[in-house]
Amino acid sequence: MQLSDAGLLKTDLFIGGRWSPSNARYDVIDPATGQTIAEVARATEESVDAAVTAAQVAQRKWRDTTATQRRDALAGLADALLAHEADLAAILTAEQGKPLAEAAGEIRYAAGFFRWFAEEARRVYGETIPAHRPDARLLVQRQPVGVGAAITPWNFPSAMIARKLAPAIAAGCALVLKPAEDTPLSALALAELVARADIPSGLFSVVAGNRDDASRLGTALCLDPRIRKLSFTGSTRVGKLLLEQCASTVKRVSLELGGNAPFIVFDDADLEAAIDGVMVCKFRNSGQTCVSANRIYVQAGVYDEFTSRLHERIDALVVGPGADAGSTIGPLITTAALKKVEQHVTDARSQGAKLITGGKPHQRGGTFFVPTLLTDVPDSSLMHSEETFGPAAGLTPFNTEAEVVQAANDTPYGLAAYFFTTDLARSWRVSENLESGMVGVNTGLISTPEAPFGGVKESGLGREGSRHGLDEWTDIKYVCVGGLGQ
Ligand code: ADP
Repeated sequence: MQLSDAGLLKTDLFIGGRWSPSNARYDVIDPATGQTIAEVARATEESVDAAVTAAQVAQRKWRDTTATQRRDALAGLADALLAHEADLAAILTAEQGKPLAEAAGEIRYAAGFFRWFAEEARRVYGETIPAHRPDARLLVQRQPVGVGAAITPWNFPSAMIARKLAPAIAAGCALVLKPAEDTPLSALALAELVARADIPSGLFSVVAGNRDDASRLGTALCLDPRIRKLSFTGSTRVGKLLLEQCASTVKRVSLELGGNAPFIVFDDADLEAAIDGVMVCKFRNSGQTCVSANRIYVQAGVYDEFTSRLHERIDALVVGPGADAGSTIGPLITTAALKKVEQHVTDARSQGAKLITGGKPHQRGGTFFVPTLLTDVPDSSLMHSEETFGPAAGLTPFNTEAEVVQAANDTPYGLAAYFFTTDLARSWRVSENLESGMVGVNTGLISTPEAPFGGVKESGLGREGSRHGLDEWTDIKYVCVGGLGQ
C-alpha cells in the first residue's frame, strides 16, 4: 500500500486521545490476496472501561461548546477526509476489497456526513409551548444524550462510522467505537484525523478486536451504565442480542439491521433505467450492502427482454482486485461469504431456477465470484428469504401489481425497496403500500446524508442521516417555569 501520508496507517488502540500499543494483536487480511496487511491491537474490557472514562470527561467539556465550535470541528473533519481521499480509499480497498473508485466514493460519502451534520449542529432547536396556566412558561430543550457506543460493519468501513460519529459530535456527545474485525484500519485512520482535529482528547475512542473479542467488547459496551446510547449497524441476529443486552441499563438504541430488498420492474418501466438500477443496486460493493436488491421481480411482458439485456451487462463486469484500475467488481469479504453465495445459487437451482451466467467461484480463486444471473427463482428459495450479500442476481416473473406487492412485503424485513414504472398513479400507490423504511422509485441508488436511512419491522430502529439522524443523539428536556405571577 503506497500512502502519501503514512501516518494514517494506524494499528494500535485509540483510547482517550492516545495511541496505546498492545501485545495481543490479530491479522487484518486483504481479501483480494489473502495476505496479512496489518496486525491490529486487540481491545479488552479494561480498554472499554478506560475509553468510557475518558469519554465522560471529554463529553462534559464538549457539551458546553457552542454550536459554531462543533460546526467548525465537523467541517474540518470533512475537509480532512477529502484532503486524504486517495490514502483513505487505498486503506479501505486493501482491507475491504471494493474497487478503488468505489472506495473513493465512500470516502466522499463519509465526508458528506461530516459536512451535513456540521450544518445541522446549528439547528438543534427547542420549542416553546403555550402554557396550561397563566403563571407558567413551558420550554423544550434538546440536550446531548451523553456518551454513546457504536458497533459497525465491514461493508462500508468508513461511511458507517461517519454517519454515527458526525451526529454524535454535532449533538455534543462522545463516542466509543468498536469497528468490524475485518476492517479496523479505516476506523483507525479516521481516529488519526480526529486526533489531529480541534476536538477534546477522549471524545472519540476506537476499541478494535477480532471475531472472538466481539461479544466481550459488545457486552462491556452494552452493560456500562455510563454509556447512554448504542448505535449498531449489522445483522439482525446480533442487533437483537444487543437490544436485549441494552435493556439492563435502558439505553437509547438505534439499529440498522439486515434487509431483503425487493426490486420490481413493471411492464411500463424504462428498461434501460431499470437495468442501470439493478447493476448499481445489486453489483456495487459485490452485492454486499444491506440495501442491495435481493429479490428481483420482473413483470411477464418484459421478462425475456430484461433478462437478455441484463445478461449482457453482467457479463461486461470486470472481476479483479479492487486496487487494479480496470476492476469493476472486487472479491467477497471472506470465504464464508463466498460459501453463502454458492449455497444460495445451488439452492435456487435445486428448486428449478435456471442459470443464465456465472454461478461459480471465479478462476482467480480466493473469494472472487463470477457475477451471476439466474431466472425463475422461486419465493421458497434462500435467495428470497435471506440476504445473498453477493454478486448473484435472481429474477422472478410476476403478473399483477397486487401479487407483487404482497410478495414484496412477505418478509420480516423492511429496509429498502425499489420499483420502476412510468405510471404516475402506480408510483404513489406502490411506494405507499411497500412495507419498508426507504423506497427507490425509478432509481437503484437512494443513500445520501440529507435523507433518513433506516428500516421498519426487523430491519431496525431509528434513522441515520438527515435531521432525524441528529434526534437519535439528543434527549428532550421539558422545562416548566412556574411562579411567573399572573
Ligand atoms: P456481519 O455478518 O455482516 O459481519 P455482524 O452483525 O455479525 O454482521 O457484525 C457487525 C458488527 O457486529 C461487527 O462489528 C461485529 O464484530 C459485531 N458483532 C458480532 N457479534 C457480536 C456480538 N455478539 N456482540 C457485539 N458485537 C458483535
